[in-house]
Amino acid sequence: MSNRPKALVLGCGVSGLTSAICLQEAGWQVSIRSSSHPQETTSNTAGAVWFPYRADPKDRVLAWGAQSFKVFNALARDPASGVHLREGIELWREPVPDPWWRDAVPQFGRAPVSGLPSPYLDAYTFAVPVIEMPVYLPYLLDRFETGGGKLILRTVGSRDELCNVARLVVNCTGLGARELFGDLKLYPVRGQMVRVVNPGLTRFVIDEHDPEGMSYIIPRSSDCLLGGTADEGCWELAPDECTATAILDRCVRLEPRLVGARVLEDKVGLRPARSAIRLEREHSLDGTLWVHNYGHGGSGVTLSWGCAQEVARLAGCPVS
Ligand SMILES: Cc1cc2nc3c(=O)[nH]c(=O)nc-3n(C[C@H](O)[C@H](O)[C@H](O)COP(=O)(O)OP(=O)(O)OC[C@H]3O[C@@H](n4cnc5c(N)ncnc54)[C@H](O)[C@@H]3O)c2cc1C
Repeated sequence: MSNRPKALVLGCGVSGLTSAICLQEAGWQVSIRSSSHPQETTSNTAGAVWFPYRADPKDRVLAWGAQSFKVFNALARDPASGVHLREGIELWREPVPDPWWRDAVPQFGRAPVSGLPSPYLDAYTFAVPVIEMPVYLPYLLDRFETGGGKLILRTVGSRDELCNVARLVVNCTGLGARELFGDLKLYPVRGQMVRVVNPGLTRFVIDEHDPEGMSYIIPRSSDCLLGGTADEGCWELAPDECTATAILDRCVRLEPRLVGARVLEDKVGLRPARSAIRLEREHSLDGTLWVHNYGHGGSGVTLSWGCAQEVARLAGCPVS
């Protein structure tokens, strides 16, 4: 029997798995309880480009994002992780100042305006981690299980079920926290994407302010994710056919090499948005220490390591 203190993490999306690994590496004996397998979570749907989007407060997001960037940079050296450092461009229809997250990104510049296609008048060029979630989540799960962790697939019906089960409980239930903890500040921001065969693209492209809808192209090893949408308060998980056609049209306009790319699937995910990310601790009456880590909006992957390191700090662990 191990005499390490016991921690229970709720949820095995990117927040739960990363928190579990940070706690484990700081000396806790960790189990995860989750209603779904990593491949069935919102996290598995994510793009997932390192890019702070729809997450607050900005000062904490910048610090968590910068910490995560460093960890992803190191992971990109391991081909098994599914993390790749990729160059890309964000296009603008008017001249813009540097983004608020600029300091977290070592390779950042501007494209010459003369080389931009109409109607663009400015563009950031930058290199950031792009994480292939269907590879990365199994990599995290394997790392957790190799470290002695156990994943239990079971829904938590109420907080009362968890009295005295562990010294520490970490809540990484994403949108599930709305029902489980009655947190009505949490709401979905629905995102639809089209997954196509990659015709040989390597650079991501973002045009967040296309008047017809935000557009992005995220190339991965063998496919590309084309987006997208951001519908606040919408819980619909079924893809909409007209939306998929419109996404394809916008992305082909941005990158003509996508013409005729074979469609593999339409995807929908619900970003767990909140006025501010909830990352804080709470003592319950039975003596359990709770740490909440949810509400990351469109940035859960981008912030995952910084938030998980803070979870370990809040749990009282020394973190390197
Ligand atoms: C279309 C789209 C594109 C995105 N692109 C990006 C991107 O490019 N970059 C980026 O950083 N982020 C991106 N995101 C956002 C990112 O996916 C989320 O912020 C992130 O996945 C949240 O992770 P999480 O682990 O907190 O939640 P989730 O992945 O939702 O995991 C929640 C976990 O909690 C479990 N759970 C819930 N309720 C209970 C319960 N009662 N009992 C037990 N278990 C429970 C679930 O089963 C699951 O395991 C995107 C999201 C979408 C939808």
